[in-house]
Amino acid sequence: MILPPATLGLLGGGQLGRMFTIAARTMGYRVVVLEPDVHSPAGDIADEHITAGYEDSAALDNIARQCAAITTEFENAPASSLTALGANRTVRPSGASVSIAQDRIREKTFLRDNGFPVGPFAVIDQHKPLSASVGDLRFPALLKTARMGYDGKGQAKVGSVAEAEAIHAQWGHTACVLEEFLPLALEVSVVLARGADGETRPFPLAENQHRDGILDVSIAPARVSSAVAEKAKTLAMALANKLDYVGVLAVEFFVLNDDTLFINEIAPRPHNSGHYTIDACRTSQFEQQVRTLCGLPLGDPSLHTPVVMINLLGDVWANGEPRWDAVLRHPGTKLHLYGKRQARPGRKMGHFTVMANTVEEALQIAMQIKKEL
Ligand code: AMP
Repeated sequence: MILPPATLGLLGGGQLGRMFTIAARTMGYRVVVLEPDVHSPAGDIADEHITAGYEDSAALDNIARQCAAITTEFENAPASSLTALGANRTVRPSGASVSIAQDRIREKTFLRDNGFPVGPFAVIDQHKPLSASVGDLRFPALLKTARMGYDGKGQAKVGSVAEAEAIHAQWGHTACVLEEFLPLALEVSVVLARGADGETRPFPLAENQHRDGILDVSIAPARVSSAVAEKAKTLAMALANKLDYVGVLAVEFFVLNDDTLFINEIAPRPHNSGHYTIDACRTSQFEQQVRTLCGLPLGDPSLHTPVVMINLLGDVWANGEPRWDAVLRHPGTKLHLYGKRQARPGRKMGHFTVMANTVEEALQIAMQIKKEL
């Protein structure tokens, strides 16, 4: 076990890293963040911020020298850097797991080849004409870049092969997946923690509503049958086992009208849809990240109250700083702002959670606050 006051390292300085840093420092660890931006949500509050790129060998040596264990807060951290750090230090999750999650082709192929349910898709190769790869895939479909896409970026809905070809050409024929556009009844996610000894603890399912491809609202517990909730948890845990995953893993699911579940994607880190755990669970997803990284026993993930989380995107700042009293005057509400200096449309600036006796009550308060902001 790596015990406080050991130093922990983090690749990435975003909000997920900030919340990891808060959890780790609360427990008495020191945190060193490697992040190229001079100002970042995690770098600004870490014990030390190494301002350098994720492949800078001197910076990687520095973080390895200082830290007993190293983790990441975003899936585009170069898997090669994680693997190199892993030669001398505990690195969780492993570069191998991260490399599957950071490439949609590898991710979907891994899921399909291991018998996990995924919706119909085609791999669109850089070197082959798109029309030759489509097979019997039905339209409309979504074309998604294999790498670096997030929050709906690098995605386009297409109605025909010709339209898909045109967009693929606009994107320079980069490697993509083409997915059938599914009639979604609901989206849910399972965030779980898995320790090095294989012990796995899932958080309650979150029900997720997106707007323009970006998470807008998460509701826990999700309003699904217990059979769907159990199935999603079982699949997520089986997937973590299959990956021999150590750390916090998020698995996003599509639910169809007949309760069919498909895995949409996985994230090798805490997840936006798990932010509710900070305020509404006995242990947060970030504390679980610290625990799995340090080889500590896992905490209890159970929910102590129904909760709704609302993301605060930069759009809310259109008329200046929002009136935070609209959030703070409710006694069951918590405000989280990430300290980003510039509010841009679509940029995740913060979130708030509403705790109440029922999900319906929490939703009603949350929607009222949203309107007032
Ligand atoms: P992703 O970045 O792949 O998670 O996609 C962002 C959002 O777009 C998802 O959360 C869904 O709301 C929607 N979406 C993605 N793929 C599909 C699909 N194959 N069918 C229907 N909606 C989708």
